[in-house]
Amino acid sequence: MTHPAQPKASHFINGEYVEDTAGTPIPVIYAATGEQIATVHAATPAIVEQALSTAKAAQKAWARMTGTERGRILRRAADIMRERNHDLSVLETYDTGKPLQETLVADATSGADALEYFGGLAASLTGEHIPLGEDWVYTKREALGLCVGIGAWNYPTQIACWKGAPALACGNSMVFKPSETTPLCALKVAEILIEAGAPAGVFNVVQGMGEVGGALVTDPRVDKVSLTGSVPTGKKVYAAAAEGMKHVTMELGGKSPLIIFDDADIDNAVGGAINGNFYSSGQVCSNGTRVFVQKGIKEKFLARLAERTGNAILGDPMDEATSFGPMVTENQMNIVLGYIEKGKEEGARLICGGRRADMDGYFIEPTVFADVTDDMTIAREEIFGPVMSVLDFDTEEEVVARANDTEFGLSAGVFTKDFTRAHRVIGNLEAGSCFINSYNDAPVEAPFGGVKASGVGRENSKEAIKHFSQVKSVYVRMGDVEAAF
Ligand code: NAD
Repeated sequence: MTHPAQPKASHFINGEYVEDTAGTPIPVIYAATGEQIATVHAATPAIVEQALSTAKAAQKAWARMTGTERGRILRRAADIMRERNHDLSVLETYDTGKPLQETLVADATSGADALEYFGGLAASLTGEHIPLGEDWVYTKREALGLCVGIGAWNYPTQIACWKGAPALACGNSMVFKPSETTPLCALKVAEILIEAGAPAGVFNVVQGMGEVGGALVTDPRVDKVSLTGSVPTGKKVYAAAAEGMKHVTMELGGKSPLIIFDDADIDNAVGGAINGNFYSSGQVCSNGTRVFVQKGIKEKFLARLAERTGNAILGDPMDEATSFGPMVTENQMNIVLGYIEKGKEEGARLICGGRRADMDGYFIEPTVFADVTDDMTIAREEIFGPVMSVLDFDTEEEVVARANDTEFGLSAGVFTKDFTRAHRVIGNLEAGSCFINSYNDAPVEAPFGGVKASGVGRENSKEAIKHFSQVKSVYVRMGDVEAAF
């Protein structure tokens, strides 16, 4: 019997599901059991062509609609997503393995927030009037044209909406390629947009690996590429986009610092460290995986952290009591287990976890290492799994320098009751998305993105509008034209 997660077909182009079984089959594995639940096929060159030509053809008419009309469609899509939150969350859990306890509140709901927010902004995307005596200049905020979105595997619904909603609000069309690891959810977003009244061809989904992504990025019809992925992929995609002078947004990896001063509320700081390391089993780009704890509270912090981490409930992700799911794939599990071994070899002190859980699926116990030093592999490389490194520090100056000593710059957090210090420290940290006495909140109203190797551009908020539109400036002369001859 066909599994309920199996989509009608692999791709969604021009308002309908499309299949081409000549494409490489991509198995979809449910991470909690290892069972294959669906198959999609990578896009063949014919499918890529169909998606790009359709999106190109649909864009102009979409951009000519009023912002109010485009916004209404996006807001209707948000309503549909909220009505179907339960089913969409179940699918998200099948796609990623993340527990339903999380997906019910963090995925379709976050996607709906983006559709609602950008739907609300669509009607107010205006230019300026710049008076110049009798003459004047006016500016118009115009769509870029055809945009490509490429997703990572950890938040398949959210990433499709965080890219699709602002792109469409500005009058662009989009071809979106989900990660080959989690290909299912973006198809539902495409389906819902059509149901909400989006013209066919405005938002299309094609499946495939990096090769398909590469074919989309290099196509001369494409005006912009928005990627969520790792730094190495980001470098390749950025370079390929530069060849065609295309706009880019790069949402890449991180190794973010979370700094806990000895005056912090310990339970809140422990809660921040848990949210910043173990949500989605650690598969979150902005995670604060280098937890710097001031020496005075180190042992107290570790004891409370170990106690609360022991309360994580590993189990069937579809059971709403489960609070901690598996790694997305067997491969990712093995990569993370490799890092755990490295941590042990290099002399970090294991506080809890540190091994594969004794159950079906790709579960790793939430793991905390203490006495981690700056040069250890687990403190330098993005692990993308439930592995927290706790480092100690003495002074503010020292911790800021150490926190910044990385190629990454996605997020940073500080826990302290001293507000002057909190703002000063955040001011000195090289990171794009920061938190004071909190960690990993991502409201659509706030810009999200990194500095240094962690990215270029911002998603969410009014900032995203700037990255999906361009300004045309028009000089209007009222009098005669003076010329030299
Ligand atoms: P990845 O870099 O392996 O793949 C990302 C996407 O790029 C996939 O869809 C993949 O098929 C595609 N791709 C690969 N090579 C390509 C190429 N040459 N041209 C075009 N597309 C190509 O990343 P992943 O393993 O899916 O996700 C994990 C990474 O994503 C982590 O580094 C994580 O930090 C990052 N991430 C960042 C954010 C953010 O918003 N900053 C959010 C989630 C994940």
